[in-house]
This record gives sequence, structure tokens and C-alpha cells, in this order.
Amino acid sequence: MATEAPLYKDPTQPVEARVKDLLSRMTLQEKAAQMAQIERRVATPAALTNLAIGSVLSAGGSSPRDGATAEEWADMVDEMQRWALASRLGIPIIYGSDAVHGHNNLFGATIFPHNVGLGATRDRELARRIGEVTALEVRASGIQWTFAPCLAVCRDPRWGRCYECYGEEPEIVQMMTSIVSGLQGSPPEGHPSGYPFLAGQRNVIACAKHFVGDGGTHKGINEGNTICSYEELERIHMSPYPDCFNQGVCTVMASYTSWNGEPLHSSHFLITDVLKDKLGFKGLVVSDWEGIDRLCKPHGSNYRYCVAASINAGVDMIMVPFRYEKFLEDLISLVESGEVPISRIDDAVERILRVKFVSGIFEQPFSDRSLLDVVGCKEHRLLARDAVRKSLVLLKNGKEARQPFLPLKKNAKKILVAGSHADNIGYQCGGWTIAWYGGSGRITAGTSILEAIREAVGEETEVVHEPNPTASTLQQQQKEPFSYAIVVVGEAPYAEMLGDRTGLSIPFNGHDTLSLIAGTIPTVTLVVSGRPLVLEAQLLNQIEALVAVWLPGTEGGGITDCLFGDCDFHGVLPVSWFRSVDQLPMHSSIGADYDPLFPIGFGLRMFDKKL
Ligand code: BGC
Repeated sequence: MATEAPLYKDPTQPVEARVKDLLSRMTLQEKAAQMAQIERRVATPAALTNLAIGSVLSAGGSSPRDGATAEEWADMVDEMQRWALASRLGIPIIYGSDAVHGHNNLFGATIFPHNVGLGATRDRELARRIGEVTALEVRASGIQWTFAPCLAVCRDPRWGRCYECYGEEPEIVQMMTSIVSGLQGSPPEGHPSGYPFLAGQRNVIACAKHFVGDGGTHKGINEGNTICSYEELERIHMSPYPDCFNQGVCTVMASYTSWNGEPLHSSHFLITDVLKDKLGFKGLVVSDWEGIDRLCKPHGSNYRYCVAASINAGVDMIMVPFRYEKFLEDLISLVESGEVPISRIDDAVERILRVKFVSGIFEQPFSDRSLLDVVGCKEHRLLARDAVRKSLVLLKNGKEARQPFLPLKKNAKKILVAGSHADNIGYQCGGWTIAWYGGSGRITAGTSILEAIREAVGEETEVVHEPNPTASTLQQQQKEPFSYAIVVVGEAPYAEMLGDRTGLSIPFNGHDTLSLIAGTIPTVTLVVSGRPLVLEAQLLNQIEALVAVWLPGTEGGGITDCLFGDCDFHGVLPVSWFRSVDQLPMHSSIGADYDPLFPIGFGLRMFDKKL
């Protein structure tokens, strides 16, 4: 007698029926294992086949080897998938990674401007297209899940994650949530809000993060405390989430931060009562990296207690990410002792399985090798270049209103390209690129600003490059004066707490470099940064033109397209450009005291009409 295939394996059955069927076949141990997400380096057959762990991740920069190709990534993920499918019930894993500005862990991928630059574009369709392209490059490497987009509303630029935010006002962040429809595909008309959706194998599972209030911490301290009323939390920090639920975002990540002293990872009110019940989110809630360990720290390291607190609050999957045996042992014993109700476990596992069934991974668990060619392809780089153009914000153009300095001439005789950031792809990309905290120099394939300038100008133009100009650089004027200088200054890459700053002056003596040159040569300054930096009034008077280029990614050509007038500047500030750090926190809603150097929404054009 032939045994019938179990219902959960039948793709013609409704998702909810498949979820219920599979859940009914699982042991407590298997349920607990589905709730664990472990790091790539500990994902062995023992974890994936014997225990049936639910998910694997690559933390920022954790790749199979330095410079690994998309194919090597796909080989690794597929091998882990084979181990998972060999488990008793054959439940596939979903593999997650932070593709937060393109597939940034993958060498050679197209790297887009970081979110702060996309916020400057105010272009919903562009954000959607970027999501679509990112999804393809992520899928090419076998990965099905990205921990993006970050929906933090950055209320204080001293925070080291300001560049991961689309802006300081919720309306800007809301506008850019269209990236979810690019990553996951657009759900059909009538799709129930809050229910997960994924269009197909060319799309990736998105993750709205970090719920909630991550951008509002006191003094912009990473993983800090957001102090505000519930009304303000909802109006400012929560408001981009319903837009994502309408688009069927599959997952939400809990924030490391606290709200009025209560850590999000243990907030039953915010995770269950608000996110799941009030906002109707039916996908899975994943913890942040070591979310439970960090919850323990202030409580004297009672890990078991923190597992209970977090799971009971409503977190469904835990980024453990290494000590999974301890997590499983504690979780199982908590259920056996009644400290965590089995109904909570079932809710978590249902949500995990729902996302897995919706994503189609039971039917197509392996990577699609026909996608390998898309990584870093010309079409994708052109989109990134367009995104760079649209993200630039022209803050000053000419000393006199009637005498614009830009566009620059392509046929100048001799020009100076100076500053720490003129020829550095790593610096252009910022944090979350190849390594978690980013890198310096040729960390991946791309075009530096200097290279783009050399491509843009005519052969007759002499380009003098000087990363650290001194008085003797200027002596080169004696024979043939410089027509103009392009000085590129800014911040070195950082991620998370490594980027928290109390002072926000231009690093690498950027101010000195600028004053040295600006006094002598007509200068356009490009600021490469994840947030506004302090620009002294005197210096601002000295320079002819000023452009905020944010963290543009690999396509430096987008910058020269605007500088040399092939297209106009379009971007407008997504954040307020403060005069001094004493003014922080500053945002337009502070009312009469709002006195920025450049207000949010500010941005000049070179031409009256679009080209
Ligand atoms: C960050 C998250 C990220 C996670 C996984 C954490 O440190 O806060 O944004 O998704 O790491 O890399």
C-alpha cells in the first residue's frame, strides 16, 4: 500500500492548511529548533539535519571566504539546504544576510547609495527598482532573506546608524518603503495587510527593522533608550510599518533599543499587543543579533530568564547566533516547566512555517544558477549610477547668486582633485560593505570619484591628484594655474556603535585641507558622509560650491554626471544640516528654535529646466 505524501508537502493545498499539518507532526524539540537562527560558521549537519534548525545567517561580512563569488555563496547555501532537507520532516532553511545597499557582503555586487542618500531622492519608484535589483543579486548567491529595509527615523545624527535611515521625518521613510515591493514583488490587489507575501524565486524575503523607536534614542546612543509618549512613538517611529504590512513584508526585526527603559526584545506590549494584534502582522518577528544575550547583560546574565522574557514577549525566531545548544535546552525546559506556554511556541512556529510556505522554498529549495550573470552587471550598475545622481544635494553653487560655479568645464587645462575621499571605493561605500564596518580602498569592483573625473574630462585636461595636499601642492600653480579644484572630504566607514560621535567635525583634518585650497583655487567641495558634518561659516564662504554626496556606493560616475552638467542635481536634504552639535537633536518639528545651516528639503538646481 502506497503511503500518501503528507499534506504539507502538497503545493496545491492552502498555506494555512500546510502550516497546521506540519505543525501537528513536529516534536517540541523540532519546534524549538525552528525558532533558532544560527551563524554560517556553526551551521553543520549536526545542527541542520539532526536538530532541524530553522535558519542560518551571514553576519555583516561573514562570507564563505574573502572575495567569494556568487557561485561559491550559492554552493555553500545549497549544501546547507541539503542538510536541512535530510532532517526528519525535511523542512528547508531560509538563509539571511544584510543586503542593505545592494548585496553588500558579496564581492563584485552592485552597491547602491546608503539609505540616507536614497531619502534625498524622494523617489519611490527608484527605491522599488533598487529593491528589485538587490533581490536578483541576492538570489543569485542562493540567499532568500535580507535584513532590510531599515525603517529607523533618525532623530539625532550623532547616532552611528544615521546613514541606514532614509531621513529624520517619518514621511520620508514612509515614501521609501516601496523598496519592499521591489525586494519581495508586489502583492495582488486585495492581499490582506500584514499577511506575508513573496512573488517568486527572483524575489527575496524582506525584513522591516528595527521595531521600534531605534532612531529616537536619547543623544543618538546606539542601542539606547527612546524616551517619548506612546503617541509620539506611533506617529514618528512606527508610522512606516503599516506601509510595509500593506506590501506583505514577511519579517520584522526587534530593536536593540528600549522604549522608556523597557527593552524591545522583552516588550510584550510592543511586540504582541501592538505589532501582532493591533497592526495585524502575521509574519515572523526575528530578534536582532544576540538579542537575548544583550537583554541579559543588564540583568546579571540569567540567560534562561531572558529566553523566557523574549519568547513570551512575542519574538518568534532568535538570532542566537552561536550557542544554539544552550538556547534550545533552555527553551525546551521553559516549556516543560510551564514558564513558556506551548501556545506561544506554536504561534512562533506557525509564523516561521507560514513565511517558508509563502516563499515557495519547499518547492524550490535550491539556488537558481541562471541568475549568476546578473551580479554587478551593466544594467544594475546603470541603475546605481542613476540613484547616485538623484541622491546628490547641491548646497551651494557660486559665491554670487548670479554667478553659478557648476557645472564644471570638461575641457579645463589643469585641475586638482584632492582630499581623503577622492579615490577610495571603500570610503564611498561606507559601513556594511564587504566587512561589517566597511573598508578602505579597492574593497570591491567599482569606480572611484577620481576615476569618474578622469573619464569625464577631455584628454587635454591634466588631472593632478593629491590625497593630502600641502602648501607645496599649491606651488604647482606656478607654471600652469589650476582652473579649479574638486576637494573630496568626509567620514571613514563605520557600523553601529562604532559610528556614534559626540562631535561631528570633518575627519582627516578635512577642514584644514579645504581652507588650504579654497583660499587659493576656486573649489567645489564634495562631502562623503552618512550624516551632516560641521561646516564653519568662514569656510563655507571660501568655497565656490558644495555638494552632499552621502555614501554613494560603487558608481562614482553618478557624481561626475552632475558635476559636469550632463544632468542636473535633483536631491533635497533628508535631514537638517545643523550648524553646530550644540543644536542637536534638531529636526524641523522643534518649531521656532529651528535654525539649521540648511533646512530639511533644501537642495539647489544648476539649470532652470530639466535637461
Ligand atoms: C544589526 C542588524 C543586523 C544584524 C545581523 C545587528 O547587529 O543591528 O541590523 O541585521 O546585526 O547582521
